[in-house]
Amino acid sequence: MAQQDAPSIALISVHGDPAIEIGKEEAGGQNVYVYEVGMALAQLGWQVDMFTRYADARDEPVVEHDRNCRTIRLVAGPKEFVPRDEIFDYLPEFVERLQQFQQENGRQYRLVHTNYWLSAWVGMELKRRQACQQVHTYHSLGAVKYQNVSDRPPIADTRLQVEKECLETAERIVATSPQEKEHMRSLLSEKGQIDIIPCGTDIHRFGHMNRNEARKQLNIAPDAKVLFYVGRFDPRKGIETMVRAASRSQILQEFDGDVHVIVGGGYRPGKSDGNERDRICGIATELGIDGITSFPGRIADEDLPTYYAAADVCVQPSHYEPFGLVAIEAMASGTPVVASNVGGLQFTVVSEETGLLCPPRDEVAFAQAIDRILADKSWRDRLGENARHRVESMFSWEGVAKQLSDLYAQLLEMPATTTPGTQ
Ligand code: UDP
Repeated sequence: MAQQDAPSIALISVHGDPAIEIGKEEAGGQNVYVYEVGMALAQLGWQVDMFTRYADARDEPVVEHDRNCRTIRLVAGPKEFVPRDEIFDYLPEFVERLQQFQQENGRQYRLVHTNYWLSAWVGMELKRRQACQQVHTYHSLGAVKYQNVSDRPPIADTRLQVEKECLETAERIVATSPQEKEHMRSLLSEKGQIDIIPCGTDIHRFGHMNRNEARKQLNIAPDAKVLFYVGRFDPRKGIETMVRAASRSQILQEFDGDVHVIVGGGYRPGKSDGNERDRICGIATELGIDGITSFPGRIADEDLPTYYAAADVCVQPSHYEPFGLVAIEAMASGTPVVASNVGGLQFTVVSEETGLLCPPRDEVAFAQAIDRILADKSWRDRLGENARHRVESMFSWEGVAKQLSDLYAQLLEMPATTTPGTQ
């Protein structure tokens, strides 16, 4: 695409700031997705503006990542962190600011790609006010999430309603796995157009360090047994299952060398993630494996490839996982994954080929799966090689962005209209 006629696109991610440090304050897969997709689209010649809510007064209003890709923070509500379930009331202000930004900058987006249900509402509202088309990625479906939690937040009904309406009205929905598409059809609506375009990972960043070198950098003995988890401290991530499985693993119990159960990820003391971290820590103590379990906190971008490479097995024991970037990051690093047999993990992890899938919350099955891989080094290596190949062929950001770019181009050939019956 020629630079002078670079078409512009708005990626909207109200609660997932693409410019924030990952692993901080609820920042996880969505932030990574929006940033990486934005950067890869810019490489393909798009002018990418990524809009998010201003959530920290110390942040800059605009962050230029690349000549054609920037994050723009819009004031909607207080310039401080607000949990995602409490953001809805600030969305009208977000839409106002987005329109104001367009006016002041002499640009009108003909296509917006919204992320998560909060942004879905913003996209739908924008369509009532100006001619534009909407592509939407859910990242998480309330209808699935609420099946797995005992207490539904007060915002639940609004979320479910917005998710259904968005599926039925957006020009295109991007499901990141066939499983997610199936959930949309069975739990939300038969209406609406869905394409499957997966999430991706950086195949250049991960997978270029061997295990011994990585262990040396982390002060881990070459013959140690290493289990690794990274991600947000959220009960839905099922970290408890991993810790319980580690304590049941026969190989870890009987091994007379070093054993490391590494539970990585940022948390804020006294907040929901800090509380979950304390709960997990308490379980490790209760099980008597606190001596081998470590909590390194947020793992910086530059260190993450080293952790994945050092691990024998990466464990992703989620109760529900719409996609699960961690699994493909580990796979890109040549590390087999033991994961729950749920959601996107059923798509990314091929059981017996790139890792093993177990029923969620089943610590016995997880322990057995971990033991099978730890018991056979050459099989572990073979699983790791297969995993790397699978990611190279299906989940690189370049490949993902190309598919999105083709989709946007196709939609932009069609005329955009305002949603009838309003304004
Ligand atoms: N990440 C993390 N914690 C850290 C450092 C990085 O969670 O301390 C990254 C992780 O590498 C992955 C993302 O955050 O890229 C988590 O994405 P995933 O889809 O696995 O989970 P989500 O946060 O979307 O539930």
